[in-house]
Amino acid sequence: MNESSLKKSLSKINLGGLRYFDSIGSTNDEALAWAADGAKDFSLVIADEQTHGRGRLDRKWFTPKSSALAVSLILRPTAPMRPHLSRTVGLAALSIADACLKLGLPTQIKWPNDILFNGKKLAGILIESVWTGEDVDSLVVGMGINICKESVPPLENLQFPATSLEDELGESAPKREDFLRDVLSAFLARREHIGADALIADWEEKLAFRGHQVQILAGSADPVTGSLDGLESDGSLRLRDAHNKSIIIRFGDVSLRPIA
Ligand code: ADP
Repeated sequence: MNESSLKKSLSKINLGGLRYFDSIGSTNDEALAWAADGAKDFSLVIADEQTHGRGRLDRKWFTPKSSALAVSLILRPTAPMRPHLSRTVGLAALSIADACLKLGLPTQIKWPNDILFNGKKLAGILIESVWTGEDVDSLVVGMGINICKESVPPLENLQFPATSLEDELGESAPKREDFLRDVLSAFLARREHIGADALIADWEEKLAFRGHQVQILAGSADPVTGSLDGLESDGSLRLRDAHNKSIIIRFGDVSLRPIA
Protein backbone atom coordinates (compact mmCIF):
# COMPACT_ATOMS: atom_id res chain seq x y z
CA MET A 1 0.00 0.00 0.00
CA ASN A 2 1.17 3.49 -0.80
CA GLU A 3 -0.62 6.80 -1.00
CA SER A 4 -1.58 6.38 -4.64
CA SER A 5 -2.90 2.78 -4.38
CA LEU A 6 -4.83 3.89 -1.31
CA LYS A 7 -6.41 6.84 -3.09
CA LYS A 8 -7.35 4.58 -5.99
CA SER A 9 -9.06 2.02 -3.73
CA LEU A 10 -10.90 4.73 -1.79
CA SER A 11 -11.88 6.79 -4.85
CA LYS A 12 -15.61 6.01 -4.42
CA ILE A 13 -15.67 6.78 -0.67
CA ASN A 14 -16.69 10.30 0.17
CA LEU A 15 -13.88 11.24 2.57
CA GLY A 16 -13.71 14.67 4.21
CA GLY A 17 -9.92 14.58 3.81
CA LEU A 18 -7.02 12.11 3.85
CA ARG A 19 -3.63 12.19 5.55
CA TYR A 20 -1.28 9.30 4.77
CA PHE A 21 1.95 8.64 6.67
CA ASP A 22 4.67 6.06 6.02
CA SER A 23 5.30 6.09 9.75
CA ILE A 24 3.64 7.90 12.64
CA GLY A 25 3.50 7.73 16.44
CA SER A 26 -0.26 7.20 16.67
CA THR A 27 -2.93 7.85 14.03
CA ASN A 28 -5.37 8.76 16.83
CA ASP A 29 -3.04 11.51 18.09
CA GLU A 30 -2.79 12.98 14.60
CA ALA A 31 -6.58 12.73 14.12
CA LEU A 32 -7.30 14.38 17.50
CA ALA A 33 -5.03 17.31 16.56
CA TRP A 34 -6.58 17.55 13.09
CA ALA A 35 -10.11 17.40 14.55
CA ALA A 36 -9.27 20.23 16.95
CA ASP A 37 -7.95 22.13 13.94
CA GLY A 38 -11.22 21.88 11.98
CA ALA A 39 -11.01 18.60 10.02
CA LYS A 40 -14.18 17.84 8.07
CA ASP A 41 -16.49 14.94 8.90
CA PHE A 42 -15.21 11.56 7.69
CA SER A 43 -11.60 12.68 7.38
CA LEU A 44 -9.13 9.82 7.60
CA VAL A 45 -5.64 9.44 8.99
CA ILE A 46 -3.79 6.31 7.94
CA ALA A 47 -0.26 5.07 8.47
CA ASP A 48 1.80 2.19 7.13
CA GLU A 49 3.45 1.88 10.55
CA GLN A 50 2.68 3.16 14.06
CA THR A 51 5.58 3.49 16.46
CA HIS A 52 3.41 4.30 19.51
CA GLY A 53 0.03 2.81 18.65
CA ARG A 54 -2.31 2.89 21.64
CA GLY A 55 -5.00 0.59 22.98
CA ARG A 56 -7.17 1.63 25.89
CA LEU A 57 -5.56 2.50 29.23
CA ASP A 58 -2.44 3.42 27.26
CA ARG A 59 -1.79 -0.22 26.46
CA LYS A 60 0.38 -0.68 23.38
CA TRP A 61 -1.16 -1.52 20.01
CA PHE A 62 1.31 -3.28 17.75
CA THR A 63 1.42 -1.97 14.12
CA PRO A 64 4.63 -3.03 12.40
CA LYS A 65 5.50 -1.71 8.93
CA SER A 66 3.57 -2.77 5.83
CA SER A 67 1.38 -5.37 7.51
CA ALA A 68 -1.69 -3.90 9.20
CA LEU A 69 -4.33 -1.25 8.88
CA ALA A 70 -3.88 1.61 11.33
CA VAL A 71 -6.55 4.20 10.64
CA SER A 72 -8.36 6.93 12.52
CA LEU A 73 -11.61 8.34 11.27
CA ILE A 74 -12.83 11.77 12.37
CA LEU A 75 -16.58 12.11 12.86
CA ARG A 76 -18.45 15.36 13.32
CA PRO A 77 -21.75 14.34 14.92
CA THR A 78 -24.89 15.74 13.34
CA ALA A 79 -27.93 16.58 15.49
CA PRO A 80 -29.69 13.23 14.78
CA MET A 81 -26.50 11.33 15.73
CA ARG A 82 -25.89 13.15 19.02
CA PRO A 83 -28.22 11.09 21.22
CA HIS A 84 -26.55 7.89 19.97
CA LEU A 85 -22.84 8.65 20.23
CA SER A 86 -22.32 5.87 22.76
CA ARG A 87 -23.17 3.43 19.95
CA THR A 88 -20.20 4.54 17.84
CA VAL A 89 -17.93 1.73 19.05
CA GLY A 90 -20.61 -0.82 18.03
CA LEU A 91 -20.99 0.90 14.66
CA ALA A 92 -17.23 0.61 14.05
CA ALA A 93 -17.08 -2.99 15.26
CA LEU A 94 -20.03 -4.01 13.04
CA SER A 95 -18.41 -2.31 10.02
CA ILE A 96 -15.27 -4.40 10.48
CA ALA A 97 -17.44 -7.48 11.03
CA ASP A 98 -19.40 -6.73 7.81
CA ALA A 99 -16.17 -6.49 5.80
CA CYS A 100 -14.95 -9.79 7.31
CA LEU A 101 -18.22 -11.51 6.49
CA LYS A 102 -17.84 -10.41 2.86
CA LEU A 103 -14.65 -12.51 2.89
CA GLY A 104 -16.51 -15.45 4.41
CA LEU A 105 -15.27 -14.87 7.98
CA PRO A 106 -17.99 -14.70 10.64
CA THR A 107 -16.53 -12.67 13.51
CA GLN A 108 -17.64 -11.84 17.02
CA ILE A 109 -17.37 -8.65 19.04
CA LYS A 110 -15.71 -8.80 22.44
CA TRP A 111 -17.49 -5.94 24.16
CA PRO A 112 -16.75 -3.15 23.95
CA ASN A 113 -13.99 -2.78 21.39
CA ASP A 114 -12.40 -5.91 19.93
CA ILE A 115 -13.21 -8.08 16.91
CA LEU A 116 -12.54 -11.79 17.32
CA PHE A 117 -12.37 -14.63 14.85
CA ASN A 118 -12.52 -18.06 16.47
CA GLY A 119 -11.78 -16.45 19.83
CA LYS A 120 -8.67 -14.64 18.56
CA LYS A 121 -8.28 -10.88 18.32
CA LEU A 122 -8.29 -9.70 14.71
CA ALA A 123 -8.90 -6.00 15.28
CA GLY A 124 -9.29 -3.42 18.02
CA ILE A 125 -11.04 -0.05 18.23
CA LEU A 126 -10.13 3.00 20.29
CA ILE A 127 -12.62 5.88 20.40
CA GLU A 128 -11.51 9.27 21.69
CA SER A 129 -13.30 12.61 21.65
CA VAL A 130 -12.66 16.32 21.31
CA TRP A 131 -14.92 18.43 23.52
CA THR A 132 -16.05 22.04 23.32
CA GLY A 133 -17.37 22.84 26.79
CA GLU A 134 -20.02 20.24 27.53
CA ASP A 135 -20.49 19.13 23.91
CA VAL A 136 -18.66 16.53 21.89
CA ASP A 137 -17.18 18.47 19.01
CA SER A 138 -15.82 15.42 17.22
CA LEU A 139 -15.06 11.76 17.71
CA VAL A 140 -11.96 9.93 16.58
CA VAL A 141 -12.52 6.27 15.75
CA GLY A 142 -9.17 4.47 15.75
CA MET A 143 -9.11 1.02 14.18
CA GLY A 144 -6.20 -1.39 14.18
CA ILE A 145 -6.82 -4.38 11.91
CA ASN A 146 -4.40 -7.28 11.49
CA ILE A 147 -4.13 -8.03 7.78
CA CYS A 148 -0.78 -9.78 7.17
CA LYS A 149 0.75 -12.39 9.48
CA GLU A 150 3.46 -9.97 10.59
CA SER A 151 0.84 -7.74 12.23
CA VAL A 152 0.19 -10.30 14.98
CA PRO A 153 2.24 -9.43 18.09
CA PRO A 154 4.63 -11.97 19.57
CA LEU A 155 2.82 -14.30 21.99
CA GLU A 156 4.60 -13.04 25.09
CA ASN A 157 3.11 -9.55 24.52
CA LEU A 158 -0.46 -10.81 24.49
CA GLN A 159 -3.10 -11.13 27.18
CA PHE A 160 -5.50 -12.49 24.59
CA PRO A 161 -4.74 -14.70 21.52
CA ALA A 162 -4.51 -12.84 18.20
CA THR A 163 -4.82 -13.57 14.49
CA SER A 164 -4.74 -11.84 11.09
CA LEU A 165 -6.71 -12.08 7.85
CA GLU A 166 -3.70 -13.75 6.22
CA ASP A 167 -3.52 -16.35 9.01
CA GLU A 168 -7.17 -17.19 8.34
CA LEU A 169 -7.42 -16.80 4.57
CA GLY A 170 -3.91 -17.48 3.28
CA GLU A 171 -3.29 -16.14 -0.18
CA SER A 172 -6.85 -14.96 -0.62
CA ALA A 173 -6.42 -12.33 2.11
CA PRO A 174 -7.33 -8.91 0.68
CA LYS A 175 -4.98 -5.99 0.13
CA ARG A 176 -5.09 -3.55 3.03
CA GLU A 177 -6.57 -0.69 1.01
CA ASP A 178 -9.32 -2.90 -0.43
CA PHE A 179 -10.32 -4.17 3.01
CA LEU A 180 -10.39 -0.58 4.27
CA ARG A 181 -12.71 0.43 1.42
CA ASP A 182 -15.16 -2.28 2.51
CA VAL A 183 -14.97 -1.24 6.18
CA LEU A 184 -15.57 2.41 5.31
CA SER A 185 -18.51 1.71 3.02
CA ALA A 186 -20.11 -0.51 5.66
CA PHE A 187 -19.53 2.27 8.22
CA LEU A 188 -21.21 4.89 6.01
CA ALA A 189 -24.19 2.62 5.30
CA ARG A 190 -24.68 1.74 8.98
CA ARG A 191 -24.12 5.29 10.26
CA GLU A 192 -27.30 6.41 8.48
CA HIS A 193 -29.17 4.16 10.93
CA ILE A 194 -27.13 4.63 14.09
CA GLY A 195 -30.31 5.30 16.11
CA ALA A 196 -32.23 2.25 14.85
CA ASP A 197 -32.98 -0.76 17.08
CA ALA A 198 -31.39 -2.95 14.37
CA LEU A 199 -27.93 -1.61 15.21
CA ILE A 200 -28.19 -2.89 18.78
CA ALA A 201 -29.79 -6.15 17.60
CA ASP A 202 -26.96 -6.78 15.09
CA TRP A 203 -24.32 -5.87 17.69
CA GLU A 204 -25.94 -8.10 20.30
CA GLU A 205 -26.15 -11.00 17.86
CA LYS A 206 -22.38 -10.79 17.35
CA LEU A 207 -21.39 -10.51 21.02
CA ALA A 208 -18.69 -12.98 22.01
CA PHE A 209 -19.28 -15.12 25.16
CA ARG A 210 -23.06 -14.53 25.17
CA GLY A 211 -24.63 -16.76 27.82
CA HIS A 212 -21.17 -17.52 29.25
CA GLN A 213 -19.72 -16.53 32.60
CA VAL A 214 -17.43 -13.51 32.22
CA GLN A 215 -15.46 -11.22 34.44
CA ILE A 216 -15.34 -7.45 34.06
CA LEU A 217 -12.18 -5.80 35.29
CA ALA A 218 -12.18 -2.08 35.99
CA GLY A 219 -8.99 -0.65 37.45
CA SER A 220 -8.42 -1.62 41.05
CA ALA A 221 -12.14 -2.21 41.81
CA ASP A 222 -13.24 -5.79 42.58
CA PRO A 223 -14.00 -7.66 39.35
CA VAL A 224 -17.69 -8.11 38.49
CA THR A 225 -18.73 -11.62 37.48
CA GLY A 226 -21.90 -12.75 35.74
CA SER A 227 -23.41 -14.40 32.72
CA LEU A 228 -23.21 -12.21 29.60
CA ASP A 229 -26.83 -11.43 28.74
CA GLY A 230 -26.94 -8.67 26.11
CA LEU A 231 -26.88 -4.93 25.47
CA GLU A 232 -28.87 -1.94 26.67
CA SER A 233 -30.08 0.52 24.04
CA ASP A 234 -27.07 2.81 24.64
CA GLY A 235 -24.66 -0.07 24.03
CA SER A 236 -23.93 -0.74 27.72
CA LEU A 237 -23.37 -4.39 28.56
CA ARG A 238 -25.87 -6.38 30.65
CA LEU A 239 -24.78 -9.31 32.80
CA ARG A 240 -26.92 -11.53 35.05
CA ASP A 241 -25.65 -12.34 38.49
CA ALA A 242 -26.17 -15.65 40.33
CA HIS A 243 -29.64 -14.42 41.47
CA ASN A 244 -30.63 -13.54 37.90
CA LYS A 245 -30.46 -9.82 38.70
CA SER A 246 -29.15 -7.64 35.89
CA ILE A 247 -25.88 -5.77 36.24
CA ILE A 248 -25.27 -2.97 33.75
CA ILE A 249 -21.69 -2.28 32.75
CA ARG A 250 -21.20 1.16 31.23
CA PHE A 251 -18.41 2.09 28.89
CA GLY A 252 -15.20 3.18 30.43
CA ASP A 253 -11.89 1.55 30.76
CA VAL A 254 -13.20 -1.90 31.54
CA SER A 255 -11.85 -5.18 30.21
CA LEU A 256 -13.90 -8.31 29.64
CA ARG A 257 -12.45 -11.76 30.15
CA PRO A 258 -14.15 -15.12 29.73
CA ILE A 259 -14.05 -17.46 32.72
CA ALA A 260 -12.70 -20.83 31.65
P1 ADP B 1 -8.49 -5.39 26.00
O1 ADP B 1 -9.77 -4.90 25.37
O2 ADP B 1 -8.15 -6.81 25.58
O3 ADP B 1 -8.50 -5.23 27.47
P2 ADP B 1 -7.20 -3.21 24.51
O4 ADP B 1 -8.42 -3.10 23.68
O5 ADP B 1 -6.81 -2.06 25.33
O6 ADP B 1 -7.27 -4.51 25.46
O7 ADP B 1 -6.01 -3.59 23.52
C1 ADP B 1 -4.64 -3.56 23.92
C2 ADP B 1 -4.09 -4.97 24.07
O8 ADP B 1 -4.22 -5.67 22.83
C3 ADP B 1 -2.58 -4.97 24.33
O9 ADP B 1 -2.34 -4.95 25.71
C4 ADP B 1 -2.08 -6.28 23.69
O10 ADP B 1 -2.21 -7.35 24.60
C5 ADP B 1 -3.09 -6.52 22.59
N1 ADP B 1 -2.57 -6.15 21.23
C6 ADP B 1 -1.70 -5.16 20.89
N2 ADP B 1 -1.51 -5.11 19.57
C7 ADP B 1 -2.29 -6.09 19.03
C8 ADP B 1 -2.53 -6.54 17.71
N3 ADP B 1 -1.97 -5.98 16.64
N4 ADP B 1 -3.38 -7.59 17.56
C9 ADP B 1 -3.97 -8.20 18.61
N5 ADP B 1 -3.80 -7.82 19.89
C10 ADP B 1 -2.95 -6.77 20.10
